[in-house]
Amino acid sequence: MSARILLVEDEPGLVLTLSDLLTVEGYEVESATDGPTGLARAASEPFDLIVLDVMLPGKSGMDVLRELRRQGRDTPVLMLTAKTQLVDRVVGLKIGADDYVTKPFEAPELLARIEALLRRAKREKLAPVGSFEFGNIQVNFENGHVKKSGVPVSLAGKELELLRYLIDHRGSVVSRDELLEAVWEYQPGVSSRTIDVHVAWLRQKLEDTPQSPKHIHTVRGVGYRFSE
Ligand code: CA
Repeated sequence: MSARILLVEDEPGLVLTLSDLLTVEGYEVESATDGPTGLARAASEPFDLIVLDVMLPGKSGMDVLRELRRQGRDTPVLMLTAKTQLVDRVVGLKIGADDYVTKPFEAPELLARIEALLRRAKREKLAPVGSFEFGNIQVNFENGHVKKSGVPVSLAGKELELLRYLIDHRGSVVSRDELLEAVWEYQPGVSSRTIDVHVAWLRQKLEDTPQSPKHIHTVRGVGYRFSE
């Protein structure tokens, strides 16, 4: 499902360019060209993200943002500010903007910020489990303690994060790409080989017979699937 973005911006040229850019990237884009309309739409329609200019006719981006947060709407907001508006950026972040981009900006920068915000929002929406038991394994994700048949097992940070992601998505196939994004956040030097190695370590530590795993299954050509 493609993310739905509300673009609140009054410069017609920028509205056109950004709408095109975001549409090409696969987003569903709606736009409003003044503050009151932007606020009305943001407050009444479901959007995954709002790109909000600060200088708007009718009502400033700041006021729109302040009002949205006052209404308890937590849609991620990416603010567009001018280079000279340092104060706006500080205030914006304080009153609940999630990030900002300074005009003039390059398309890749804006897209990267948007992707990051959407990713973060998606992650927060997943209600991750606090602790989990499968087979003879007990995992407490709050304090990182793992036991196999009552005996403590030590998992490295990334192993625990990987396990958590697989458990949160248990039953469905998780691709290596998804893991690179969600667990490693595309750190440089990290490849799908890294994932395979971590999976091997997890199996070694948790599975009774790592070479024929009962819980962390390989889905050939795609990725992995966790089952209890
Ligand atoms: Ca403007």
